[in-house]
Amino acid sequence: MRIQLPPDRQIKQAKYKLHCSWQLKHLLRGYEHIVKQRLQQSADLVSFILELKTVLELGLKRSSECIAIPPPQYYSQLISEMETLGWDMLLFIDTEFQTLKLKAEDSSGRQHILTIKFKSKHPAEAPECSADLPIPLAITWTPQSTLQQLHKQFMLVLESLTEFWDVLDEIDNQTWILEPEKPSRCDTMRRIAIGNNVSIKVELDPRHPKMLPECCLLGAEHVVTPLRNKLNSNMHLWNPNSSVLHNLRDVLKIKFPSPATHEKSDFSVECGICYSYRLEAAIPDQVCNDPRCGQPFHQACLYEWLRALPSSRQSFNIVFGECPYCSKSIDIQKT
Ligand SMILES: [Zn+2]
Ligand SMILES: [Zn+2]
Repeated sequence: MRIQLPPDRQIKQAKYKLHCSWQLKHLLRGYEHIVKQRLQQSADLVSFILELKTVLELGLKRSSECIAIPPPQYYSQLISEMETLGWDMLLFIDTEFQTLKLKAEDSSGRQHILTIKFKSKHPAEAPECSADLPIPLAITWTPQSTLQQLHKQFMLVLESLTEFWDVLDEIDNQTWILEPEKPSRCDTMRRIAIGNNVSIKVELDPRHPKMLPECCLLGAEHVVTPLRNKLNSNMHLWNPNSSVLHNLRDVLKIKFPSPATHEKSDFSVECGICYSYRLEAAIPDQVCNDPRCGQPFHQACLYEWLRALPSSRQSFNIVFGECPYCSKSIDIQKT
């Protein structure tokens, strides 16, 4: 390191430039501004050198923490375990050989990914395993456990969920899903279009996917009420051996619009206030109850709109006002 002092030997004005070995440069990476600051704040060279020593010690400690290279046997073990499992199962490995992504196919042919992150105290410490699942991934680990055993445990978890995914795949393929926008394997909720501005939200239990799910009908009252009555009076018809979609058809006595019969745009009617369909993640799920109007709005848009009008009335967190389209009474709850 070269420190150039001005003629008056005032260290505060000193120019500092790093001329040093790459090891020192590497150690000081990210600490340059601190070195500069210490140089300007030090009373003399001696106190600066002491400050520099502290900075270097800190850098040394940090670098020894992040470059904890595992022993050679870690790599040979990993390679031999990958050979047993099959290299074709490996989708990704990072340059440190610490994070792996393994592929897995369930009995219905769906592709899944198991991410394994080995910890610094591997194999004493269990690796961190994660996957796109609707339930927590519980993995049993001992220091003798292998990749193949991890993969096998993952496959068992996948098998326990095949019925859940079969039920959801049928719904996803044969109906129009309004929410989530792009369902992933961990999603247990589906909002299924029934008609224009009418939908049903179902929440499945991944452990008991064919049981009657939690259902919530959304839309204008005059359409939702008869459907809700059918749901309540036909609930006893629910057959746990049949799929959720079949049961919903039987209980509600309806045919769900499907990609084969309808366009998605038939159901994604934009909000009457902001003129868009998606507002962040929300879709326009508040509908004017007047059968001749039926205009949908985002909850947030309608709430703000009504609250801003002097003719509206607020009671607790509900605002009562008029539909911006047909002037019939409409109310909205703040979430
Ligand atoms: Zn809106
Ligand atoms: Zn209206």
